[in-house]
Amino acid sequence: MNSDLTAAITLVCTSGVLNLYLGFYVFAKRHNYTHIARLFILQAVCVTIYCMASAFGLMSTTLEAIKFWTVVQYAGMPFSPPLGLLFVMQYLGIRIAPKWRNALFIIPAISLIMVATNDWHQLHYRVFEIDPALGAPYVRQEIGVWYMIHGLFTFASMFVAFLLILSRWRETAKAYRPQIVSLLCGQLVPMLTAFVYLIGFTPPGIDPVPMVLWLSSLLYLWSIRTSRLFTIMPIAKDAIFNGINDGVMVLDETNRLIEFNQACKSMFPSLHRSMFGTDFAKVWHELAGASFPFGLDTAADNGEIRLPAADRSERTYQVRTSPLRHGNDSKGLLLIFTDITELKRLQVKLEYQAYYDELTQIYNRRAFFQSCKREYAEAQEHASAFTVILMDIDHFKSVNDTYGHAAGDQLLVHVVNVCRSQLEEGALFARYGGEEFVLALSGYTASEGEALANRMRAGLEAQPLAKEEGVIPVTISLGVAEAEKGTEETLYQLLNRADKALYAAKHEGRNRVRVYGGVKAF
Ligand code: GH3
Ligand code: MG
Ligand code: MG
Repeated sequence: MNSDLTAAITLVCTSGVLNLYLGFYVFAKRHNYTHIARLFILQAVCVTIYCMASAFGLMSTTLEAIKFWTVVQYAGMPFSPPLGLLFVMQYLGIRIAPKWRNALFIIPAISLIMVATNDWHQLHYRVFEIDPALGAPYVRQEIGVWYMIHGLFTFASMFVAFLLILSRWRETAKAYRPQIVSLLCGQLVPMLTAFVYLIGFTPPGIDPVPMVLWLSSLLYLWSIRTSRLFTIMPIAKDAIFNGINDGVMVLDETNRLIEFNQACKSMFPSLHRSMFGTDFAKVWHELAGASFPFGLDTAADNGEIRLPAADRSERTYQVRTSPLRHGNDSKGLLLIFTDITELKRLQVKLEYQAYYDELTQIYNRRAFFQSCKREYAEAQEHASAFTVILMDIDHFKSVNDTYGHAAGDQLLVHVVNVCRSQLEEGALFARYGGEEFVLALSGYTASEGEALANRMRAGLEAQPLAKEEGVIPVTISLGVAEAEKGTEETLYQLLNRADKALYAAKHEGRNRVRVYGGVKAF
């Protein structure tokens, strides 16, 4: 074995061993590198296979052995550039759909098959024989059609990766630029070597690329060890992005979905990475079954949407849009979804508590006055009839004393239910205080109000509260007053007259209706 060959084998083995080390190094620290690690390790494994098989090839003495080790080389080598490209894309935060990612490995897989079956078709190597002048392991080869496709694809992958890294030069902080340079060189070294080899500037018969790959490996290793860029930056960005409780979708300048975070995925379970690159309108239709209710213009916009959740409940989201700008250019849009379901629920609950009586679930005094003032003003404006009824449970205190406070509560609810059964839907009926209730009747005259009051009174008399301990009889007294048309009487004055009528009803023996200013009145 001549000394050139020994040097070549040493270099190739060094590349192989360094790559293996690199693979193990990243594997051992893979928890620091998350998803980047997988691609990097795979690439290191491919390069190791390539280098080691190349070394064995250089030590072979028969054509059969050389062919065998060439096939083994192809089990690693063609896969390495697309893996490198994906690694660079992942590192730079460029996403591609899984189908495109997988498509990158079609040509490498075919190349492997082509080399393994070359004897039958000679599509990869037209000629592949031991160099007649130099002897084994030097090879004389003439490349075939598939070799060109394979070569072009390999170059293109490395070149695109190179350009992608270059495109980030300006955005990269100065402190990280040496690492970017090292990444660039790591791509450039095998690319240039392969190019020089293909145009015939290297000694013939041996592939020089594995001999220089140790240099790329060293550059990568240096980058990884000296900078926290590989580990911290992408992971930190990922962690922040995925740690946000708000769902975030990123759209490009043509409104296509390019990213979403973990919270967004939880909000919209059918959201999937395969939707990357799809127009947002289409994505939204798939997620919500309807068109997006807001405009996607870059002016920040707020709105609320309600969507069914996985558990069939309905959830409310606040939607905000935030333009992404780079200098003066619009680079896309952030869509931020904040789950405000609990907030809304609380708001509704608080509003309910503010206007409804907790025990009887009818309006409270505050809500009564708010609505009644409006209705009374309308009636005054249109000079239409308006009547109020105040009612009070008779001897309620003795119910509490005899049956207990809980029974008293039940009786209050019972009274409300019986009275409500006599009322029209939406009637303004409220708990005025303790065991007193008030009813406002727009369009009712005093006599119509009196008739209704009597129906309620009779209804209650006929329906005592049936309890296990026995039947609790209940009666009410009611005072009715009709607004006097054409006067400036306030609602409070009107209610005061109704109260006087109620007092009269109590005074006259209870369980009766009195109308202020009525026939039997005062
Ligand atoms: P009258 O026929 O003159 O109206 O006699 P009364 O006993 O009904 O009237 P009084 O004003 O003396 O008593 C009202 C009682 O209602 C006193 C109070 O403890 C009771 N009460 C007020 N609010 C509630 C309540 O929410 N639950 C219960 N169980 N009792 C209440
Ligand atoms: Mg009472
Ligand atoms: Mg009372």
